[in-house]
Formats: sequence, C-alpha cells, structure tokens
Amino acid sequence: MGEYDVAVIGYGPTGMTLAALLGQHGHRVVVLERYTGLYNLPRAACFDDEIMRTFQKLGLAGEIGRGAVVQRDYEWINAAGETLVELTYADPAPCGWAQLYMMFQPHVEDVLDRHDKALPSVAVHQGASVTALVQDADGVTLRGTREGGGDFSVRARFVVGADGGNGFTRGVVAEAADDYGFQENWLVCDFRMRRAVPGLPMFRQVCDPAQPTSIVRIGPDHHRFSFMLNPGETREEATRSERVWARVARYVAPDDAELIRAVNYVFRSRIADRWRRGRVFLAGDAAHEMPPFLAQGMCSGIRDSHNLAWKLDLVLTGRADAALLDTYQQEREPHVRFITERAIELGRVQTMRDPARARERDERLLAQRRAKREPEKLRFPPLSGALIANNGGLFPQGAVSDGVRSGLVDDIVGTGWCIVAVGPRLIEALTADQRAAWEALGGRLAIIGAPGGLEDRGGIYAEWFAANGCAVAVVRPDWYVYGTASDEEGLAALLQRVARALEGSDVLIPS
Ligand SMILES: Cc1cc2nc3c(=O)[nH]c(=O)nc-3n(C[C@H](O)[C@H](O)[C@H](O)COP(=O)(O)OP(=O)(O)OC[C@H]3O[C@@H](n4cnc5c(N)ncnc54)[C@H](O)[C@@H]3O)c2cc1C
Repeated sequence: MGEYDVAVIGYGPTGMTLAALLGQHGHRVVVLERYTGLYNLPRAACFDDEIMRTFQKLGLAGEIGRGAVVQRDYEWINAAGETLVELTYADPAPCGWAQLYMMFQPHVEDVLDRHDKALPSVAVHQGASVTALVQDADGVTLRGTREGGGDFSVRARFVVGADGGNGFTRGVVAEAADDYGFQENWLVCDFRMRRAVPGLPMFRQVCDPAQPTSIVRIGPDHHRFSFMLNPGETREEATRSERVWARVARYVAPDDAELIRAVNYVFRSRIADRWRRGRVFLAGDAAHEMPPFLAQGMCSGIRDSHNLAWKLDLVLTGRADAALLDTYQQEREPHVRFITERAIELGRVQTMRDPARARERDERLLAQRRAKREPEKLRFPPLSGALIANNGGLFPQGAVSDGVRSGLVDDIVGTGWCIVAVGPRLIEALTADQRAAWEALGGRLAIIGAPGGLEDRGGIYAEWFAANGCAVAVVRPDWYVYGTASDEEGLAALLQRVARALEGSDVLIPS
C-alpha cells in the first residue's frame, strides 16, 4: 500500500477526524479499517460546542449541523415523576456554537467519510485489519489482512491507533490500563421515528431505582431509550423485540417508531497507562473508555485527534522536535481522567438501585430545587504541561466584524497559532524577527477593537480579557491558550518560550 506520513488504525469518529485534520495540511495519510463499510448504527448521542468548532475548522459545521438538533435542556425525574434536576444549555456557548447537539452518528460519520475520501493526500482502506506492528528509528511497518483474502504492508513515519476499546494498538503501546472498576450493564434501544409523538421527552434521565432509564433524541429523526439491566437479565432475553416494545410502551408504539436496534452494552471506565510508544500513539477509545453519562467519549476522542494533529503537523514539517509529541498524553490524560471521574460520579447518582438511598438522593435534590439553588455547572479543567505557559483554558470564539465581513472569529481570522491582542499597540510593537518567526509557525495576528481591529460584536472578548487580567493571548491551533501577558516584555517572553518548547528544550522539563 506504500509509504505515508501517518497511518491511522480505525475509522471511527476519532480516526476520521484525525485523517481529516492531517489531510487539511496535505500530509500523506493512510487509514486502515477492518470493516468493509461504515458501521451505520449510532453509538454516541451528542457532542458539544468545542467539537462543532472542530467540524467548523474542517468546513463541515453546516453539513453536520443539518443532521443534528440543538438541545436546550436536560431533566432528571424520580420514580414519582418529580423533577429532580433541570439543566439548561447555552446557545451560543464559549466556542461560538450551541453547548449541546443531539446527533445521529451515522450522519456525522457519513459527512466525515465523504470529506476524508475527497482529500487528495488521504487514502482510506476499508476491509483492512492490522495484525502486526514493528517500529524502527525511521518509521513503523504495519502488516495485516484484507477482507476476502490477501495480506498488506504499510510503512509510515507515525502511527495512531484509533481502533477503539477492543482494538489491536493498545496492547502494543500500553503496559496496563487503569480500570476504575465501574461496570454497568445497559440495554440501548434505537428507533427511527415515523411521526412526532406529543409529550415524548427529548432528553430525560429517569432516576427510578426499579428501572434507571435514559431517554434521548438522537438527531432529528431518531430516538434512544436506554435501560439499566437488572441482575440476572440475559442479553438474549433483554434484546428480544417483544421485550423491548414492552419496556418502551409508555412512550412509543410500533405506529410511532421503527426499532432499528437493541443492543446490550457494558459501560466501562479504563484509561491506558501509556498513550505513546516511540512513533505509535493511542487516541479515542483505544486510549480511554468512559461511561456515557456526560456524553463525552467521542468528544474526548475528537479532542485527542485535534491535539495530536497540529503537533504531528509541526513535527512532520520540521518546525518542532518530536519530543513535542510527549505533551500529547501530558495534556490529554488529566482532562480525560477528570471527565471520566465526573461521569462515574454522575452515573452512580442517577442509577442508584437501593430504594432507601434513592429516596435520600431525591430529597436532597428536591430540597436544592426548592431553595432555587442552581445545579453546579461542570467546567473542564485547563490544560497544563510544557506547552502551556500560564493559562491553558479554552479561548472563546465570538462573533466579529472586520469592517467588510462579519462572522465567527475562526472564519474571519483563520485557524492555527494566533496572537490575539486588545488594541493594536502590542502587535505593532512586534519586531521583524518576532513576526518572521511567528509567520514561519503559520501564526496569525488578530486585534480586537478599534482602531483597525475586529469589532467584538457580542462583547465576549472584552469579557474574556477582563476576566483573565491581560491584554494579549497566545492561542494554540486547538484554541487552548498557551499564555497571556499585559505588555511587550510579557509577550516577547511568551514567544521565546513557544520557540524553546517547539525546539524540544522546554518539553522534557515542564515548568
Ligand atoms: C450507548 C453509548 C452512548 C454513547 N454516547 C455518547 C455521547 O453522547 N457522546 C459522546 O461523545 N460519546 C458517546 N459515547 C462514546 C462514543 O461512542 C465512543 O467514545 C466513540 O465512538 C469512540 O470512537 P473511536 O473512533 O475512538 O472508536 P470506535 O468508534 O470504536 O472506532 C474504532 C474503529 O477501529 C476499527 N478497528 C478495530 N481494530 C482494528 C484493527 N485491528 N484494524 C483495523 N481497524 C480496526 C473498528 O472496526 C472501528 O471501526 C457513547 C457510547 C455508547 C456505547
């Protein structure tokens, strides 16, 4: 099959996004997927604003958005039907898109698949199972078998295993997986809606100790009902269609909807101890699995791809030392652990089977509602490590106008490294050398506010710079803030530090 810059094993959402991001930079990418076609059935139900911003970067937000629905609220009710928790989601959220989109995963995968296959430097081979991997000083050789017979061999400078929770690459890269011991047995039933059903919950958790249930629309035309299985219930019995219809009878009937699948999932939580071995990386479910209570498994895999893609781009183009790639796990693992731990906690609260403890939970949550106490908003932690100087938060995307065009900032300014300053002063003060070094990195410059800058139409940047007490931000290609400063010296120090980090000298000794 030839020689490539990057070989991606697995063509789920993580692998598809990684191939698209690397292909955007013209890198030669081969994707190897064991199945001959797309999986064509949903797993993930929703994604967030950061993921939509990633699709925007690929030029796919419009197409993906057409097969997704913005969700504005989420409720938990108890067995008696009382509302325990009511959450509302922002629109727009900090990344410039709605905080939550309910999607039909085959639609999203279809869009990504068409996009990947149209990229001139990306080759997608479906029906190609990887079975062996050998790496040397210059690259990696992958071998495998083709569906229908025959072997193949591929050579690449780097390999990313995006081959899911039961794939091949984790065994090559990791020594062990940290298992949180959380294991739950659920029945997931997906329906294509034949008609609108009045009163059908769009996003609801039923915290009934006799039958914890989750109801969620998955895109414009589909709905999912998930039931925690009872001890002793077998997969065969639970997935029988009569049994499924009996379970959903209080919500939908065969005239309303067509059952497209009923499947038994064991939700697990495992994080691989190593995500890199030499030239081989793990991403997505291959690196980490979490229960779906925060709807962040796929989102985390797409964040992995984004984090890896721009770093691989810098290394492949000789603009950064390969040591930079060590920052991938340093940054992504704590983020994923945080989300996994919160998802487990949330799952434990939502799915209490002991009636007495469930009653206590209900009383506590009802008291909170009576006191009009807002449910705590979950905020993901900032990144840290050698590629973060002093911030690590996610830089927002606001609506701006440059006097000619108006739109979201990434569309107006473009993506990649960016120095964003309040007013022209700090950008005008950059020396010719600083500008040249920044341009060599593909870096951009953006001035917020007059004169000559972008109009901050929603006031999001005024708010952000005030909250962060700074006048300039150095933003990475994945929108995480490398660092902030208030004056010329501070900005100069940040730029020098970026250069050192990319050379590798800062990477081994994180500050
Ligand atoms: C019921 C349920 C609900 C969920 N809800 C959400 C949600 O709302 N939001 C969210 O963000 N996440 C959700 N998730 C999690 C999400 O579905 C997964 O995290 C995501 O699909 C993982 O994507 P991936 O690309 O990393 O792996 P996968 O989708 O598993 O893809 C891996 C691919 O690798 C291929 N492969 C494996 N071995 C080989 C090999 N040796 N050679 C070649 N190819 C190979 C496989 O065939 C597969 O196509 C949910 C999961 C479940 C089960």
